[in-house]
Amino acid sequence: MTTRAVLVGAGGLGGPLALSLGAAGIEVSIFDPDVVEASNLHRQIQFTAADRDKPKAMLLAGAIVARGGHAHGHVAKWPPADADELGRDADIIVDGSDDPVTKFAVNDWAVANGRLYVIASALRYGGNVMVGAPGFACYRCLFEEPALDAPTCSDAGVLGPVVGAIGGVAAALAIGLTRGDRSHAGSIFVFDDLRAFVDPRVVRFAARRDCPACARAPISPFQTPPVRVAAQKGP
Ligand SMILES: [Zn+2]
Repeated sequence: MTTRAVLVGAGGLGGPLALSLGAAGIEVSIFDPDVVEASNLHRQIQFTAADRDKPKAMLLAGAIVARGGHAHGHVAKWPPADADELGRDADIIVDGSDDPVTKFAVNDWAVANGRLYVIASALRYGGNVMVGAPGFACYRCLFEEPALDAPTCSDAGVLGPVVGAIGGVAAALAIGLTRGDRSHAGSIFVFDDLRAFVDPRVVRFAARRDCPACARAPISPFQTPPVRVAAQKGP
């Protein structure tokens, strides 16, 4: 059976994510409202100067198709008005956007619809990747609200290879999720400075009792049966 992914963002993180997911045989629906600008090219290495002013989502979907994969581009922000229809067949939603509001929208849609998800962020020399699945703590449990004053790559910058590294990690974790690996669900991988130190801190966190996304989840992290510990044999 074909595995299907929604990918949000076709920029620096979206490039390696899309090509890796597509090469793994996953059908990818890519959402990004933007066109390629010359200032993108240092970190969005899937594009060339000849791509300027063309929509990123369509170019990236075309790159997957040119490699024998299956993809569709949507020149739109996530979530579009018909998100539930467009995402109906998606097994997983992966965020590589550069916008905190979009990341929370991805989280809330995934949690409300009981989907697997991965949310990746990169800034300056590091970044993080959150792995989510139904029944586990979500992105909103951890970060609560979008930080609207958070710097973005367009204004604070990001080292080109950093988005490649974070995007590659996010793709590997997403592919693992689609193949049944839940060992990192409810965890965030934090990369402080990829120039100096590649090992991430991996932090598993608990669901927040008053998280509005988890309160509406079809599979709530609060209803998941506790892990049973085998009874200890007496001495
Ligand atoms: Zn939550």
